[in-house]
Amino acid sequence: MLFRLSVLLGIAIALHATPSTAQTVYPACYNIQNVQVHYYPDPSIPDIAVARTSPNGQPIVLWNPSILMPRPAATQEFFYYHECAHHALGHALGAYGPGGERQADCWAKQTMIQVGVMTPQKYQTIRKDLLILSTPGIDWPNGAVRVQLLDAC
Ligand SMILES: [Zn+2]
Repeated sequence: MLFRLSVLLGIAIALHATPSTAQTVYPACYNIQNVQVHYYPDPSIPDIAVARTSPNGQPIVLWNPSILMPRPAATQEFFYYHECAHHALGHALGAYGPGGERQADCWAKQTMIQVGVMTPQKYQTIRKDLLILSTPGIDWPNGAVRVQLLDAC
C-alpha cells in the first residue's frame, strides 16, 4: 500500500513537472570566493534575472518566472550560466562595469561548451532568442550586436 502510494505520488510529480516546468538540473554554480550560488524565482524583479548578494551575504540569483519560463529551454539554460558568470567573475561583489554583460555572455557560452551541454542546435536557438529578447544594455544597443559579440567570443 505504501509502495503503491509512493508510485502514484511519483507519477503525479512527474506529470506535474513535465509539461511547462521541465526543470533541468544544471551543474552547481559557485562565486569567485567558491561559495555556492542559489537561484530563487522572483516575479517582482523588472528583468529576466539579476545576480546579487542577499542581505545575509549569500550569493544569489533572482529570476523572473513570467519572463524566463516562456522562453525556450536553451535560453533558460543560457541565462542560468549568464547569471552564474556574474558571480563567478566577481561582478556581484563590485567588479561590474562596462564589458560585464559581454563577459557574462561569453563565460556562459564557453562554460556550456566546456561542460559539454552546448550543441550547434542549442546555440542557434539561443542566438535567435537573444536577438528578440535583448533590450539595449551597457554592452550592446540591440540584440543583433549582442549576438555578433557572442559569435566572436
Ligand atoms: Zn547580465
